[in-house]
Amino acid sequence: MQQDLLLTFDREHLWHPYSSTLNPLPTYAVERAEGVEITLADGRVLIDGMSSWWAALHGYNHPVLNAAVQAQLAKMSHIMFGGLTHESAVELGQLLLDVLPKALNKIFYADSGSVAVEVAMKMALQYFQAQGKRHKSHFATIRSGYHGDTWHAMSVCDPVTGMHSIFGQRLPVQYFLPQPRSRFDDDFDLNDLAPLQSLLSRHGDEIAALILEPVVQGAGGMYFYSPHFLTHAKALCAEHNVLLIFDEIATGFGRTGKLFALEHANVVPDIICLGKALTGGYMTLSATITSERVASTICSGEAQCFMHGPTFMANPLACAVAAASIKLLLSSDWQGKVRSIEAQLKRELAPVANWPCVREVRVLGAIGVIEMKSAVDMVSLQKRFVEKGIWVRPFGKLVYLMPPFIISAAQLSQLTTGLLQALREEYQR
Ligand code: PMP
Repeated sequence: MQQDLLLTFDREHLWHPYSSTLNPLPTYAVERAEGVEITLADGRVLIDGMSSWWAALHGYNHPVLNAAVQAQLAKMSHIMFGGLTHESAVELGQLLLDVLPKALNKIFYADSGSVAVEVAMKMALQYFQAQGKRHKSHFATIRSGYHGDTWHAMSVCDPVTGMHSIFGQRLPVQYFLPQPRSRFDDDFDLNDLAPLQSLLSRHGDEIAALILEPVVQGAGGMYFYSPHFLTHAKALCAEHNVLLIFDEIATGFGRTGKLFALEHANVVPDIICLGKALTGGYMTLSATITSERVASTICSGEAQCFMHGPTFMANPLACAVAAASIKLLLSSDWQGKVRSIEAQLKRELAPVANWPCVREVRVLGAIGVIEMKSAVDMVSLQKRFVEKGIWVRPFGKLVYLMPPFIISAAQLSQLTTGLLQALREEYQR
């Protein structure tokens, strides 16, 4: 298809994430992607700094992942999960049990991250309903979080940067605590716990679960907080009979330097949500995993089962590629790779920290964040990035990198150099 026709149809008929049909933002047509290179339809090649939103750990068009999809395709691309099962679902389940804390061993597969969060929240409600505690039906979370765009997931997103002002009156009302002020590397300030302590002692009997993105808050602000907060939160939740849900949809599979962010604190939640990099970014799949105790309580309640069952549950293609992606990750020196990406990002982004337009530079694992003092002009900056041969998608005040783990040191330097040049041009206009 001719590129101009493609872009015209796209502009006139296709909705993009958080976009306006009246004033659509420019889009760039992609012809193909391989490794860490994205080739645009006009022939330009961009180094990928986004991993397609935390997902494409191994880069694009990976021969091992392609082979896994093809092998599964030759057998069946999909089969209903009601009453049937298949090897890819079981193999993926075994791999997940191998890498997750032992206590988490009941797996529910769903379609996307947001649905995994809905499932986790439903599990928490059914868990308490089964014990005759219907009053435990609210959720608590910390500000600046992000958990997805479906209804209940949205209700636990940050009330300011999330979508509460638009949908507010119809959204379930949840309890919001301040973001912990203690940063990832800081000594933990016990004052960070006071709001949670006070909320749980006043309203613990109404709260089903505390839901958190452990250590790294993603789309809500790219903020890294102290793992000690999680340790204390776990103890407080246990004391008040509140379940703890970890949303590791963004952080799972090595991004923060640990396979799961919970390992920074050695805390085991009652329920964990996985997604995004689960399939190495090949297709959509999520998993919500809980303990024997939570699962069997749910299933001995009124419904006698867990009330959820998506059409594409445990899609074989997605499970097959997810299993291949986990094996590929575990057979690589991913920790060494993430450590060297971290060191290089720290080194190469450091010069920006004292630019007048920059509030802060922070790096954790394979995540590098430049927080500006004010919101960036996304269209103008995006255009400059593309001209420099890099793919970076800023939002609000945040310009950030989270490249595929397979990126070479030279490609990462291309990314950071292009980023700095584009920012310099943008702010010297
Ligand atoms: N939770 C977190 C922490 C996320 O980062 C995201 C996606 N940005 C979601 C949930 C929602 O996932 P999805 O977009 O696949 O619905």
